[in-house]
Amino acid sequence: EPEVVKVSILNEESIILGFHLTKFMLRDILSNIPSSTYVVITDKNIAPIYLSKIITDFEKVASKLNLINTTKLRLITYIISPGEQSKSRDTKAEIEDFLLSKACGRDTCILAMGGGVIGDLAGFVAATFMRGVPYVQIPTTLLAMVDSSIGGKTAVDTPHGKNLIGSFWQPKRIYIDLMFLETLPEREFNNGMAEVIKTAAISSESDFINLENGVSSIREAVFSSPKRNVQYQGAILATRTPSQSLLLSVIMTSAKFKADVVTHDERESGLRGLLNFGHTIGHAIEAILSPELLHGECVSIGMIKEAEIARHLGHLNQVSVSRLYKVLQDYDLPVSLDEKKVKDLVGKKFCAVDKLMEIMKVDKKNQGDQKKIVILSSLGSTYEKKATIVSDSVIRKILSP
Ligand code: ADP
Ligand code: ZN
Repeated sequence: EPEVVKVSILNEESIILGFHLTKFMLRDILSNIPSSTYVVITDKNIAPIYLSKIITDFEKVASKLNLINTTKLRLITYIISPGEQSKSRDTKAEIEDFLLSKACGRDTCILAMGGGVIGDLAGFVAATFMRGVPYVQIPTTLLAMVDSSIGGKTAVDTPHGKNLIGSFWQPKRIYIDLMFLETLPEREFNNGMAEVIKTAAISSESDFINLENGVSSIREAVFSSPKRNVQYQGAILATRTPSQSLLLSVIMTSAKFKADVVTHDERESGLRGLLNFGHTIGHAIEAILSPELLHGECVSIGMIKEAEIARHLGHLNQVSVSRLYKVLQDYDLPVSLDEKKVKDLVGKKFCAVDKLMEIMKVDKKNQGDQKKIVILSSLGSTYEKKATIVSDSVIRKILSP
């Protein structure tokens, strides 16, 4: 039995964290989400590393549970191309046609194994297939572990914008297996740290200090693994190092805050809006600079701008803005659109203030035509328990060079 940590969401202990959870997860799924067909949906980067272990462990666990001969049990898989362009109505329809061609019925359970793209897409497939079938989230990126796999928001993109077609559909379980981080590219890890830092900044000074003090230990937990860059062999780590324990607690704390917010505000009426710190401006930047800049990178720059707005309004002091700046830099995240690393990535693209203001005008979280921004009052707390209306003139002033 692996050591696991459980976190509640919507009054159920459905978030499970640990290292090397595959067998534990399959035992739990086969015992508690009984289905005839289990469908793993994943992408072309993840499948060659992790799919064979899932398939062999599925056979082993099913036979241990005596499920092989008594039911018409099966595990099937569907592999999509990686990247945001797969989060489309077309890919959703392809998956649905595949499920129908395999005669999947209402006793189907979907296993969404991947980053945010897979989670949002496979979750939305589960939400509408046969008017809704159960699914579980198996996040493989840090961003998905602490953010997108939690909360039941599922969606696809359209040419008019991201996440415009979707639904709220809660996963039965979320298995946060830190083993997946061993193969995650470093830039993708940093991308997820932006959301971890965001959560600490809005919720807890001590968590924020832990991140400030934990930079080298957290990186060591992920990047000095002996198996890094070696194909995954299925070995179980005998012991958990102190840095791995720190990493687990950092991820657990971040996931738990999101879970608590979702529990109190499942459909995003107020409190859940706090999770958008850095995102009002971050999303506008992302609309222009994606895919060259990643979501967390845009949010990182957005957090600095939004913290500067809080300082300008007299709610946050300069020392706090500087500490936020430093911690983001320490985790190798961009803090300004003007830095060389950003310029090198985005080439000729640039973010004109008018363009950013224009994009923010159509944010679905706006109140009428008034823009909302999460205003920090210190590192670890916010001015209101929701986003605050900020005038265009203030936003424009802070965005202007
Ligand atoms: P997110 O929205 O969570 O950032 P994506 O679904 O866009 O994630 O995935 C980011 C990239 O990382 C994709 O190319 C994906 O195939 C890859 N990826 C996801 N998880 C892993 C992993 N554990 N190891 C290696 N690559 C991964
Ligand atoms: Zn985000």
